[in-house]
Amino acid sequence: MVKVRFAPSPTGYLHIGGARTCLFNWLYVRRLGGKFVLRIEDTDIERSKKEFLDEILESIKWLGLDWDEIHYQSQRFQLYHDYAQKLIDEGKAYKKEGAVFFKYQFSEIKIDDLVRGKIVFTELPKPEEVIIKSDNSPTYNFSCVVDDYLMGINCVIRGEDHISNTPKQILMYKALGFKIPQFAHLPLILSAAGGRLSKRFGATSIREYRDDGYLAEALLNYLLLLGWSPGDNREIISLEEAKKIFDIKKVNKTGAAFSVDKLNWVNSEYIKSKSITDLAKIAAGYLRSKNFLPPDVDTRYIERVVELFKERISKLSDLMAWARFCFYDDYAYGEDAKKVLEKNLNRQVQVLMERFSSMDSFDKDTIEKEFRDVARSLSLKARDLVHPVRVSLTGEKVGPGLFETIEVLGKKRVLKRLERLCKYWAGSKE
Ligand code: GLU
Repeated sequence: MVKVRFAPSPTGYLHIGGARTCLFNWLYVRRLGGKFVLRIEDTDIERSKKEFLDEILESIKWLGLDWDEIHYQSQRFQLYHDYAQKLIDEGKAYKKEGAVFFKYQFSEIKIDDLVRGKIVFTELPKPEEVIIKSDNSPTYNFSCVVDDYLMGINCVIRGEDHISNTPKQILMYKALGFKIPQFAHLPLILSAAGGRLSKRFGATSIREYRDDGYLAEALLNYLLLLGWSPGDNREIISLEEAKKIFDIKKVNKTGAAFSVDKLNWVNSEYIKSKSITDLAKIAAGYLRSKNFLPPDVDTRYIERVVELFKERISKLSDLMAWARFCFYDDYAYGEDAKKVLEKNLNRQVQVLMERFSSMDSFDKDTIEKEFRDVARSLSLKARDLVHPVRVSLTGEKVGPGLFETIEVLGKKRVLKRLERLCKYWAGSKE
């Protein structure tokens, strides 16, 4: 039976790299049918924090992934001590000043990495290494080997940044008489410029992506593309589909470039593919969590607003930036937008308001027809009226189609806002 593990250290939040490692482990084992172990590597008591652990567990669940077993290394110190003692008894390790040192018996090491192919390690930087610190905690390489063995892990899938640990671990496996698992080292995730991910570009926690209005499925889909592709040009691949076709041997050897633009594109594709009802539910949940929605707003209205913006947003937070005017009247006209209002069209807008008031059906086609008709009757070009009306209804110069916007806002709100525009003109100098 295949058994893999994802082994985060709760000394920081779950980031893109960790989440991708988790996903690739999960896909590998779910495709082959085996067990997925989540191992919390909390041996560093000082730096491990509950806050980080909570975020890691919550983010894995939010992404839609799950695990079959969970273990905490902080509860397993006795096991590490027992194995260290075994090594001491066999003369393979020794105690000095309260710490336990392991003596490497080095010989050339060859592995057949599932991603990188054959790798040969011809030397080790040090002849010995601490495996138990004087504070009794194990070091990473040692607890990792003991646990991978005890937990029956037969395939270790992790980031390439651990490749230098692999020969050390193999020597420990040998010294302990454990069977060596297979390894798969995933390519690094780099910034678009080829360097390390920075806080501004990609090195944000999964919780921050969630907070920013990315959909879990979209983020997962994007993670999937970081170093792997199905071999054709498809980029939108659901988790269900990926589970059927994921092949670790097809993971790239070279670094994967992280691109926010690409992530935004993937997210917008998922947003567009949702039905209005589903998207409105997701958006409402998100906007409520941000205290953005007025308490009395009804579901149907949220659906209409979502429909208005669905094709334009790439993440749910865009709604907070762009759709505020749909829920609140208290916006100011933007400085730039005020320029559109320089020409006083008070009288003409009054005519438009009268026409709107008399309309029975307030749908976008009728609105457009009547709007153009009013403009014509006043010898105005439609756009001369479109721009100030848009500023009046939204506060901004640009936004979704005006007639759809008018329909969504509804007659009452529209008239109130046009009234405000007329007052603005009446109060400003002619
Ligand atoms: N705790 C290690 C890390 O977070 C795990 C490395 C491994 O998978 O062996 O990098």
